[in-house]
Amino acid sequence: MFQGVDELWMDGEFVDFDDAQIHVLTHGLHYGSGVFEGVRCYDTVDGPAVFRWEEHLERFYQSGKPYDLDIPFEPEELTEATIELIRREELESCYIRPIAFYGYDSLGVSPGDCPTKVAIGAWPWGAYLGEDALENGVDVMVSSWRKHASSQIPTNMKTTGLYVNSMLATEEAKGNGYTEAIVLNKEGNVAEGPGENLFLVRDGEIYTPGLAESILDGITRRTAIELARDLGYTVHDQATISRGELYTADELFFTGTAAEVTPIRSVDDNVIGEGTKGPVTDEIQDQFFDLVEGRLDGYDDWFTYV
Ligand code: PMP
Repeated sequence: MFQGVDELWMDGEFVDFDDAQIHVLTHGLHYGSGVFEGVRCYDTVDGPAVFRWEEHLERFYQSGKPYDLDIPFEPEELTEATIELIRREELESCYIRPIAFYGYDSLGVSPGDCPTKVAIGAWPWGAYLGEDALENGVDVMVSSWRKHASSQIPTNMKTTGLYVNSMLATEEAKGNGYTEAIVLNKEGNVAEGPGENLFLVRDGEIYTPGLAESILDGITRRTAIELARDLGYTVHDQATISRGELYTADELFFTGTAAEVTPIRSVDDNVIGEGTKGPVTDEIQDQFFDLVEGRLDGYDDWFTYV
């Protein structure tokens, strides 16, 4: 995955790939006490541009809040570092991974004087669930693992430790021959994918679980809601969706920075709609790629040009 990556940015400077190292007694490694982002830079018609960078950066800082994880760099410094990294790596489109975590000092659960370490990596990353997935959709299963309740851990933040739950769900799905999982929340309602938000289409209207359903406030989710409304669809963005409603949906799709807009063609072996990319999904996906590749007017604010 990291072939061809020469440098990363770490704690204020660019370092060679092989030198981007941390100590094995790092707090974040032991307790998952870190936060991260996943961002994409697209090769737009006006050149490489990072999509909705400001929103990702805001979520990055906010994710650290409950953990008193203060990121010791100004947003402008992280922006400059990211743009410079993409330039130095000569990337046109790429995935960008900022991470901040408690470093090495002591190993009490309380991070005490552990310094906050910050790093940014960037590398080319194609369709997360595969090119075929974008066109033909994915087969998914409802995981036997439930999402953490937001009373147990803030689920609207990208904390590293949260992702062992996502890993369990993903591995369970793959182990059973599916491409991806859908995870229910503690109440048994639909939450999201392990790394994606979920949308349902029924009778021409669009539904997506609300923020109180233990989901991440996905930036692609926000984008899809806005695009769908601009296209004239009614979008219910605070929906509660039961497991059974998945099986009777006309269409289902995932959204995410990595997964972009990926159709779901079956859930637990129940074919959704015609078992292909549905017409509403198709329209939103088309609009999404027109947007991120810079072919739609009026969204310039969402791009940070390299
Ligand atoms: N839910 C989870 C659990 C995720 O990890 C992601 C990926 N960041 C998403 C949803 C989608 O969020 P975004 O569109 O901001 O990438």
